[in-house]
Amino acid sequence: MEPHREPVRIYEVCLRDGLQNEPTHVPTESKVAIALRLIEAGFKDIEVTSFVRPRWIPQLADASEVLRQLPDVEGVRYWALVPNRVGLDRALDAGVQNIATFLSASETHNKKNVNRTVRESLSSLERVVDIAKAEKLQIRSYISCVFGCPYEGDIAVQRTVELAQKLLAVGADEIALGDTTGMADPALVTRVLDGLSEAGIPLDKIAVHFHDTRGTALVNAYAAWQAGIRSFDGSIGGTGGCPYAPGAAGNAATEDLLYMFERMGCATGVDLDTAADAGAFMEQVLGRELPGRFHRYWLGDQAKKSTSATA
Ligand code: MG
Repeated sequence: MEPHREPVRIYEVCLRDGLQNEPTHVPTESKVAIALRLIEAGFKDIEVTSFVRPRWIPQLADASEVLRQLPDVEGVRYWALVPNRVGLDRALDAGVQNIATFLSASETHNKKNVNRTVRESLSSLERVVDIAKAEKLQIRSYISCVFGCPYEGDIAVQRTVELAQKLLAVGADEIALGDTTGMADPALVTRVLDGLSEAGIPLDKIAVHFHDTRGTALVNAYAAWQAGIRSFDGSIGGTGGCPYAPGAAGNAATEDLLYMFERMGCATGVDLDTAADAGAFMEQVLGRELPGRFHRYWLGDQAKKSTSATA
């Protein structure tokens, strides 16, 4: 085993990013049951839903109900995605304490996603952040398509630097860099993070949100870790994708991140077996095989154990 290193934080997105593109309707009580398993595993940051217009993402139409049913647990923060002022009002009514906003580094992706220019998104977001600050909420701001856009291709590092600076200036507590369609490679990850660092942006304000669409999520996470990032988004079982980005599928699988970091000596505060068990439960709920590598390994191992136990 490696020596002890600085701990890392895993921010769990399966209930929002993981579910939003799932065709199988997941009832509120199953979402709450998944959240309880995540809490038992030791997750402290769980993104549980989204207050986008229910018509856009019917799967998350029960946002208020989910929040109301979740127990208050010391040290656990529930996060909800908030697209605009209307979404914020709904979120506040539901008692939300931590919100996530989003906009895209790509003009075309932003337009297709929310039918606004990036500038329009920024000014709407400013208003949302002002109110959220007055309500003492914690604010995370996603920037999508940081590492490439399916419509525009490469995204300039400077573009991300400027957006991150603006979002922090507006009052975001944390920026999450999204590889929305899984186009990143480790060299690019290094370049983007070095760019942020050189611009004076503290890396402890930055989280990374990778997708494994082309098999690079874990190596990108490692590159980000080497560059100084300590906060990583993951989705149990590797669930998820972006409904507005053609072909995008699969967030970085949480269990893979947990395994890698724990092996490296970076404490995650999460029990891997309990997390893997939550992944198995998620698979049952969705009724389909999930792609996470550790998840698949673990299911196989469990099956082997139960066969040898009965033999
Ligand atoms: Mg995602």
